[in-house]
Amino acid sequence: MPEGPEIRRVADRLGKVLVGVPLTQVWFAFPELEAMAGRLRQTHVTAVDCWGKALLVIFADGHVLYSHNQLYGVWRLHRSDQPPRTNRILRARLSTSRHTASLYSASDISLWTTETLERQPFLARLGPDLLTHDVSTGDIVARLGERRFASRGLGSLLLDQGFYAGIGNYLRSEILFYAGLRPMKRPKDLSDTQREKLANSILTTILQAYREAGVTNRPVWRKRVQQAGERRAQWRFAVFDRDGKPCHACGATIQRESVASRRFYYCPVCQQG
Ligand SMILES: [Zn+2]
Repeated sequence: MPEGPEIRRVADRLGKVLVGVPLTQVWFAFPELEAMAGRLRQTHVTAVDCWGKALLVIFADGHVLYSHNQLYGVWRLHRSDQPPRTNRILRARLSTSRHTASLYSASDISLWTTETLERQPFLARLGPDLLTHDVSTGDIVARLGERRFASRGLGSLLLDQGFYAGIGNYLRSEILFYAGLRPMKRPKDLSDTQREKLANSILTTILQAYREAGVTNRPVWRKRVQQAGERRAQWRFAVFDRDGKPCHACGATIQRESVASRRFYYCPVCQQG
């Protein structure tokens, strides 16, 4: 399943061709949406954002197209005169004179406004999106201290999209490695310095994954593994999916265990906290 960084990159790709460009076609497979299509075509797209696994196309008149891909949905970008050959069912299409964004197979599509969006049932359960909502380390430190989060084990808290949206399973292992923490630790067990380091690790790790297409390893470690001729799976991450291999930092053997029913990787030496 894609995590926040991968979804943010899809939003960016759509935004690049749609934002500020006159729309030539707006089309929906669902009648209640299609009734609004003519009106949306008169306006233009001002932003494409993600919030958790939802993609939001924001229009200048205040409308917001919400779509959630679940397991099967996919946005495809293509030239307007060259629709892709596919057996998938087309659900929505936004075109400019040059480019078209086509949404296939997703069934969870609805139209909101910037005011009503927070009442959308899926979004209402989510915390702020780490790559969309300008979250700072200070914000994260404060949220870690809130009563509803302070007594939760970090291993389950980081996966809880009600805490922050965007962290999935590989990011959880990577974030806790860089923070030097084990997953059973709770925010309230941490010193101020540890909380600060964790908040910092959450932001820098997800931002690196976003900028470097899913890579969260430190450049100097990555280069060393690349030069040894290893495949991407071995240099992409610091610890995730590397059980049995030596820690890039200290050489100890990376361990794997199950935390909150998902696989978790850590260095027993670097993560004493
Ligand atoms: Zn280590």
